[in-house]
Amino acid sequence: MENIDWGNLGFGYIKTDSNVRAYWRDGKWGPLTMTNDETITMHMAATCLHYGQEAFEGLKAYRGKDGKVRLFRVEENARRMARTAEYTKMVPPTEELFIEAVKMVVNANSRFIPPYGTGASLYIRPLLIGTGAQVGVNPSKEYLFMVFVTPVGPYYKTGFNAIKVMIDRDHDRAAPHGTGNIKVGGNYAASLLSAEIGHQKGFPSVLYLDPSEKKYIDECGAANFFGIRDGVYITPDSTSILPSITNKSIMQIAKDMGLKVEKRKVDISELATFEEAGSCGTAAVISPVGKIYDFDEDKVYTYGDGVTAGPWTKKLYETLRGIQYGEIPDPYGWVTIL
Ligand SMILES: *Cc1c(COP(=O)(O)O)cnc(C)c1O
Repeated sequence: MENIDWGNLGFGYIKTDSNVRAYWRDGKWGPLTMTNDETITMHMAATCLHYGQEAFEGLKAYRGKDGKVRLFRVEENARRMARTAEYTKMVPPTEELFIEAVKMVVNANSRFIPPYGTGASLYIRPLLIGTGAQVGVNPSKEYLFMVFVTPVGPYYKTGFNAIKVMIDRDHDRAAPHGTGNIKVGGNYAASLLSAEIGHQKGFPSVLYLDPSEKKYIDECGAANFFGIRDGVYITPDSTSILPSITNKSIMQIAKDMGLKVEKRKVDISELATFEEAGSCGTAAVISPVGKIYDFDEDKVYTYGDGVTAGPWTKKLYETLRGIQYGEIPDPYGWVTIL
């Protein structure tokens, strides 16, 4: 097999053995089938291509200290895909179908699950697309649900070192009452220009403000944002933020560690008051934010030494990782052992 350097994996695509697929046709889901074909054939008028009728998810499988493979909160991903499908008028896979597909593809590609201790994991990408032909703007009458996997390392090159981010007031990734709170590709297409501007200026991620008033913190790139101050974990509430399963888990862990948790509008002026800041998501896990640049206001906010994670951030990270890799007990029932 390929010589994968597990300890130095980036966040990219590496070919694995197989992926799984099912079609919804004539009012029902067909069988889940496994294939080694990395391509999809579809009608040129498929709704996913023209009208963005698509939903995706992202989760990971972790090879634990005990050698067992764990999925983290897979039911939550199934439910979120169903919510995304509801808004975009697609037919979602049932929760059972979703979970079965994930288990099937992970088991079939177990040789690609990175060994324990390398810091890497197996990224799982469920995808739902309208494949039926429509030229008028209408929902498709046919859907493809598929899941592929690929081994990944850290999302940011800095690993668990702090990233610096810049505030982008010139672009929004989603509208106030649009698709920001569901996981559709369109939000990502809308963020590419902004992300590239950030990259060109040397920032691995940009911080968005709420799209209606530009007064409150929204998302940090494709991850949720949090700040910590005086024993309080504070994370923005907004109709244009994607409810992160990682953030939801961190909020629970934070509470149980004795932090107070507040999910509410976060005024931009609060950036000056946080002791620690970070971003979180399946891909980013917890990425500490060391500096936030606000070029329009000519301000830079620095958290801690600007490079390393603060004490609470580190503790939250270690607990979350510990549960995912089976190093510490999972009191919440978040983990599915394969
Ligand atoms: C997927 C995603 C997240 C992170 O969600 P998790 O469930 O923690 O992986 C955050 N923001 C956006 C915009 C996303 O698409």
